[in-house]
Amino acid sequence: MSEFDLIRRYFTRATPGALLGVGDDAALLQVSAGNVLAVSSDMLVCGTHFLPDADPFLLGHKTLAVNLSDMAAMGAAPRWAVLAIALPEADEAWLAQFSAGFFALAQQHGVELVGGDTTRGPLNLCVTIFGEVPAQQALRRSGAQVGDEIWVSGRLGDAALALAHLQGRIALPAAELAACLPALHQPQPRVALGLALRGIASSAIDISDGLLADLGHILDASQVGAQLDFAALPVSPVLNNYVSRPLARQCILSGGDDYELCFTVSAARHAELSAIAARLNLPLTRIGKIVAGRGCIVHDASGNPLNVEACGYDHFR
Ligand code: ADP
Ligand code: MG
Repeated sequence: MSEFDLIRRYFTRATPGALLGVGDDAALLQVSAGNVLAVSSDMLVCGTHFLPDADPFLLGHKTLAVNLSDMAAMGAAPRWAVLAIALPEADEAWLAQFSAGFFALAQQHGVELVGGDTTRGPLNLCVTIFGEVPAQQALRRSGAQVGDEIWVSGRLGDAALALAHLQGRIALPAAELAACLPALHQPQPRVALGLALRGIASSAIDISDGLLADLGHILDASQVGAQLDFAALPVSPVLNNYVSRPLARQCILSGGDDYELCFTVSAARHAELSAIAARLNLPLTRIGKIVAGRGCIVHDASGNPLNVEACGYDHFR
């Protein structure tokens, strides 16, 4: 199979939302009136972000999902993507599954694959995604204000707990593993939430490197500090079974791959969040507040500061 057959067969779909899609030297894209482009890339490297035997359908999903998550965190509506892929060989069964996983999620979010690059090499997957947002409504990291509430979507730590099991750092019973694995392999990017938070959130970020690290980016960009209430952090029933263990705390506070949104809102807008949570059928939880100063303090249930370094949090990781 030639490179061009491969592209035609596995990566070419109709792109009615583009002036020109796959097949020329470049795609042609028209941003709709009143919007600016939000552009982001995320690369998944075999051996670093996934194992060589990863399920190709799920890998196709995750390759796009991590990019959609960045659009969500900007409050942008995802529109188009390009895919640069290095493959050790043209394995048609693998390609069919990978592209099926990729396009299933793309279709769900109205994203069109408009181009890319295909080359032979160690398996490597890089998506660049393009979304639209009115410039003034983009959710930046830099807008958190002292007194704002800090919120997260969904539940934290399941992906890291599943990974800990796969790495032999904990042994989960089969039913518990089955409950956590989808968070690791099939994260659901919070695109609808990002759109709903336009004009409401003062700052936002997606949690890819763990809550403390990613909230830390908001704090740095906004030049503020935070106080978090550990007992308020939303966790699944499975993770809750292990919550007294250091490993579980580490998963919740600094495990990666959650792909939930962490955002700040002024206390006055509290009620709007319950309405959004209900409409999206997505739990939204207040986990703390923005304070003057720098850094993040996590209080345990009795109000004492947790030693977050002992939870695996490393500022210089
Ligand atoms: P060029 O040599 O001009 O860079 P290519 O031969 O790399 O063009 O690609 C041919 C066409 O196929 C281009 O429109 C490119 O965007 C598209 N393309 C290449 N690889 C992919 C891919 N993995 N997914 C989607 N489109 C792709
Ligand atoms: Mg090329």
